[in-house]
Amino acid sequence: MASNANSGTHEEVDAAEPNPESALDTARHQLERAAAELDLDSNTVERLKHPTRVQRVSVPLERDDGTVEVLTGYRAQHNSVLGPYKGGMRYHPEVTEEECIGLAMWMTWKCAVMDLPLGGAKGGIVVNPKDLSIAEKERLTRRFSKELRDIVGPNRDIPAPDMGTDPQTMAWFMDAYSVQEGETTPGVVTGKPPEIGGSYGREEAPGRSVAIITREACDYYDFDLDDTTVAVQGFGSVGANAARLLDEWGATIVAISDVNGAVYDPDGLPVQEIPSHDEEPEAVTRDADDLLTNDELLALDVDVLIPAAIGNVITGANASDIRADLVIEGANGPTTFAADAILERRDVAVIPDILANAGGVTVSYFEWLQDINRRKWSLERVNEELETEMVRAWNDVREEYERRDVSWRTAAYVVGLSRVAEAIEYRGLWP
Ligand code: GLU
Repeated sequence: MASNANSGTHEEVDAAEPNPESALDTARHQLERAAAELDLDSNTVERLKHPTRVQRVSVPLERDDGTVEVLTGYRAQHNSVLGPYKGGMRYHPEVTEEECIGLAMWMTWKCAVMDLPLGGAKGGIVVNPKDLSIAEKERLTRRFSKELRDIVGPNRDIPAPDMGTDPQTMAWFMDAYSVQEGETTPGVVTGKPPEIGGSYGREEAPGRSVAIITREACDYYDFDLDDTTVAVQGFGSVGANAARLLDEWGATIVAISDVNGAVYDPDGLPVQEIPSHDEEPEAVTRDADDLLTNDELLALDVDVLIPAAIGNVITGANASDIRADLVIEGANGPTTFAADAILERRDVAVIPDILANAGGVTVSYFEWLQDINRRKWSLERVNEELETEMVRAWNDVREEYERRDVSWRTAAYVVGLSRVAEAIEYRGLWP
């Protein structure tokens, strides 16, 4: 479990970061900061620092050669005061219990910032998806679904794709759950293929929301998109969709990257033509002669930086090198608490993940509604409603930002946390 749980202000955190923060450390620091801003009841804050439940399961996987390996999976359910738990499921070698709890906490705030009737959860399996054949991934997912059967469900906890999982993974998860329940239950997961109850526009939604929030932020700071340069770390679903939309809207995408490094062209990259990670893994760097490192991409002199790959990339060690005016968080938790302090001092505006990439869970909510009502929405309707919800959430956060003179992150927390805290007050803590 995390230490430093009592250090509530930036100043108390050592910017040199001798021990890198876990997602849970960062999430708890951020919670304390926003709770102090809201002057929240300390009992409520104490409750919110801890998840309601963490399920740890052993998942036996039969390899294609017949050997059995036992993997570890988690589902952390942080808070459900506003509705069923909701959040992604990742397959990644660095999944830990702490990380799942921190990410689940962020889902609670993300859903609340978007004013969705959903709580926060996150889960995953400690596995490198690159080491799995398709058949192995299917067996693993079905068994994981079985292990989680008692705690998930359309009114309990609704998983979705995250790092290393995709619509096909959700289809297997939903099928295994439905077979056990004896009835087709599409609402048990979101992010499914549209053919089996998925929503049009769900896959593109996190990237679309990052683009919408970038557009709103540029407008707020009087940057004309036509004169705005953007560097995007990561060219997966979030990074590629954000980059392509921003390019369509007139911005110049000067750098994009994958795990091998970054390509950079000050005149702009043809992002509509470069395959995303999902279309063709690592195609970004395949034919490039001159690569920058991912760290060099972060330090480029651009107007907007979008970290959209993994967490903890902007840290106390490199935050002073960031030259962008605006950072829009596409990934979950790309900026550590220590880095946030440095960026705040340097007047770099950081628009947080819980707002910027919240389009994913928002369209997940639309998907869940479609599943419950057994009625599909058109792509046009999904994108229109997403646009409306994102702009409304942006305005809610902007109002707090202006009223309180705090960072964008704290403003977003104030919006989300106050909704959760009010619900707790009405329902009671029942200790
Ligand atoms: N994994 C996504 C996120 O971090 C989506 C969660 C969901 O749709 O439930 O926001």
